[in-house]
Amino acid sequence: MMITCLDLEGVLVPEIWIGVAERSGIDALRLTTRDIADYDELMHHRLTILREHDLGLADIQAVIDELRPLDGAFDFLQWLRSRSQVIILSDTFYEFAQPLMKQLDWPTLFCHRLEVDAAGRISGYRLRQTDPKRQAVNALRQLNFKIIAAGDSYNDLSMLTAADAGILFNPPERLVADYPEFPVANDYARLSAAIQEAEQRVLS
Ligand SMILES: [Mg+2]
Repeated sequence: MMITCLDLEGVLVPEIWIGVAERSGIDALRLTTRDIADYDELMHHRLTILREHDLGLADIQAVIDELRPLDGAFDFLQWLRSRSQVIILSDTFYEFAQPLMKQLDWPTLFCHRLEVDAAGRISGYRLRQTDPKRQAVNALRQLNFKIIAAGDSYNDLSMLTAADAGILFNPPERLVADYPEFPVANDYARLSAAIQEAEQRVLS
């Protein structure tokens, strides 16, 4: 029995914060986990900038409503869901992800929640647990599932390492150089092939 765990941003949908940065014109929001590996530090940076520019949750949601899944993501995900259970493990927030999940036909998503004050400003966030990607993979393995995981960035490394097989999708070059043990796929055809190869390895 196998479950495939996928990262969301950079694998199925664009980087949400980069989309927000481009549409709002605030360059300082462009930083992602590729730039600041410490997620808590990155989120504090983002929330400070939103406060400085007086941007609330509704402003950000309006931007996210305009985002679309990456080209080919829908068909890839449908293909994958037809052959294994799929769980998306993401460091985004349900409040942000919802319009994109709808476009992907509501796959299962484990992520975090935002805290929003009475004026609609994002006042903070609640991480579901520490190191959530690794803990999800470990918990699923305890349920006697084999896990294949694919992600694009530093915040996926714990998930890729904990899984029975990890795959890097469209990663930055530095990550490929630092973690040569993971196969690399740069498009959905290669990712599909890498998943099938991993399946054979893991299930044999
Ligand atoms: Mg990502």
